[in-house]
Amino acid sequence: MAVLILTDLFGHKLSWVKNLTSSDARRSELDFWRGPGGPDVPIDVRIPFTSLQAVKIFLESNGIRYSILIDDLQALVDEEQTQMISHHFMPRSVETFNYASYHTLDEIYDFMDLLVEANPNLVSKIQIGNSYEGRPLNVLKFSTGGTKRPAIWIDTGIHSREWITQASGVLFAKKVSAEHDPSLTSILDNLDIFLEIVTNPDGFAFTHTKNRMWRKTRSISSGSTCIGVDPNRNWDAGFGGAGASSNPCSETYRGPYANSESEVKAIVDFVKSHGNIKAFISIHSYTQLLLYPYGYTRTRAADYQELDNIAKAAVAALSSLYGTQYRYGSIITTIYQASGGTIDWTYNQGIKYSFTFELRDTGRYGFLLPANQIIPTAEETWLALMTIMEYTRDHPY
Ligand SMILES: [Zn+2]
Repeated sequence: MAVLILTDLFGHKLSWVKNLTSSDARRSELDFWRGPGGPDVPIDVRIPFTSLQAVKIFLESNGIRYSILIDDLQALVDEEQTQMISHHFMPRSVETFNYASYHTLDEIYDFMDLLVEANPNLVSKIQIGNSYEGRPLNVLKFSTGGTKRPAIWIDTGIHSREWITQASGVLFAKKVSAEHDPSLTSILDNLDIFLEIVTNPDGFAFTHTKNRMWRKTRSISSGSTCIGVDPNRNWDAGFGGAGASSNPCSETYRGPYANSESEVKAIVDFVKSHGNIKAFISIHSYTQLLLYPYGYTRTRAADYQELDNIAKAAVAALSSLYGTQYRYGSIITTIYQASGGTIDWTYNQGIKYSFTFELRDTGRYGFLLPANQIIPTAEETWLALMTIMEYTRDHPY
């Protein structure tokens, strides 16, 4: 496998590549990691070696410029495995847990239990449902008391191959439980925090055992041999509109109906029954973006200006640590039209502070971000999360 980056996709070239994404014949061969978006947004696409020559000839004959982003994807996957194995040991405590390594589902679930054990007065684990394959959907609750406090929701890993997000989620959990800075304390004095680290556990397990590049859920659809639904196209916000596929074989398959995926439905039920969630932050990778609604419509969100101001401040805080550059804006204007997305639904439910991150990088490694970037990525992202959480604390509604 190789990953190509396509650039300068103006006019007919962009529509030609967009057609590729919806063409049944080629869909099984091409895996679009990023895009297609607007003309100034490069597209990253994964191509098997067996098709590489044909695709190159095709691109050249159509005058589409490209460069090779990752020459040999398998080599990166192998390197990642070697790193994981060399750092592998069962964590005996939250102190000895290796935060600088990627971990399996079992290891992350063990970590959650260790964190609860070590901080029984702050952290508890709640199960909001079961995955399609029957795995528990575990959420960490951080609360210093009260019965019906307003809350902040954070999820990572709804797309299973975006490993930097689950790894960052582990670090966020550690930071909330261990950090004693006054600002976090005052956030926890006013708000509970809910954190779902492995939001798509079936997909995540599959990325460890069978296919590192698995994105979707693992549900079986009737009438197709293709498996899985894109859990970020399955929400009841513009469901079925442009920017999602009706083809079960597509990486952006929306599913047979809204909330068909138990992983999505569990969060929907939780958000509705809680009834007092004030900020909802769903974390993806990659591209280095901070996004707010909408994705399914060009209509500006009613709180557009406020969300834009928050995003600007959060991105500035993030960049202050290592200079990592983020872009920000609404989903549809910043990347592309996407229907049935998480934060469009949460925003329409009245959760004003709804945001999506796309973490590191901008394509050098894509979903195979080396483990030595886990801690820096989580640390810088934490500063942006703190900005959003502080704003939520200081601007109740
Ligand atoms: Zn994603």
